[in-house]
Formats: sequence, C-alpha cells, structure tokens
Amino acid sequence: MTTCLFCKIVSGEIPTNKIFENDDIFAFLDINPVNPGHTLIVPKKHFVDMSDTPEEILCKMILAAKMIGGKIMDKLGADGYNLELNNKPAAGQIVEHVHLHIMPRYSDDNLKLWPGKNASKKELDKIAKKLLNK
Ligand code: 5GP
Ligand code: ZN
Repeated sequence: MTTCLFCKIVSGEIPTNKIFENDDIFAFLDINPVNPGHTLIVPKKHFVDMSDTPEEILCKMILAAKMIGGKIMDKLGADGYNLELNNKPAAGQIVEHVHLHIMPRYSDDNLKLWPGKNASKKELDKIAKKLLNK
C-alpha cells in the first residue's frame, strides 16, 4: 500500500478535481491555487523527481501541459501561464511524486517572477564552461 499523496489521488483513494487523464498521465486542480485553474500534472506511476522519471513520461507531461494550457486560456480566459517543476526539496518540492505545475496568469494579477541577480561576464563565462556539452 502506498503512502504517497499523489499516488492516492491518482488511484482515487483521495478525492480530487480531475481535469485530464490518459494511460500514463493524470492532471488535477491544486488545492491551494496561485490563480484559479492551477493544475498539477503527474505520471500515474510513482517517480520521485526528474532524475528517476523516464524521458518518454517527461515528454508526455509536457504534451499534457501544452493541451491544458490551451484550455486554461480558451475556457478560463487566462492571458498566459507558467510551468514550474520543483525538483528536490531545495527547490521547493514538498510532494515527492514528480509533478508539473501549470499556473494560469492574467496581465493584471500582479504576481512577480523570480528576482534576477547581477552577474559579471567572468562569472557567466566560468559557469558556461562548466556546463557546456562536450
Ligand atoms: P510542490 O511544492 O511539491 O511543488 O507542490 C505541491 C503542491 O501540491 C502544492 O502546490 C500544494 O498546494 C498541492 N497539494 C498538496 N496537497 C494536496 C492535495 O491533497 N490535493 C491537491 N489537489 N493538491 C495538493
Ligand atoms: Zn506517488
């Protein structure tokens, strides 16, 4: 028996507002929405985060986000939306079943995005060198 909250939501053990499902993916409304229509997209199988989620499942999560994003704009009248995947506790992941947030946005909702920091060219060059594909 699973103790995972989102596995219980997928199985129906915990009731939710489902808005989409296919063979691999389940999407439902977040209980504490940033804006109305805030949705969580999860794989039906339990994976913890990006590291252990197969690539084909991650692709299916993004495809579901594109479809749900369209609906959020068409049916709820949102002007845009943000996607967010909090990967590991340091990044704000509370529920350890990988999930993609899709958050409807309105031109006048006054929500702020992440603050940017200043960075010197030297710092940027150093980081790019470490991360560059080889
Ligand atoms: P995280 O911080 O892990 O990326 O986000 C977890 C999200 O799950 C939060 O936005 C929170 O509001 C949502 N959440 C937590 N418990 C429940 C629940 O029981 N039902 C639903 N629908 N959402 C939940
Ligand atoms: Zn789970």
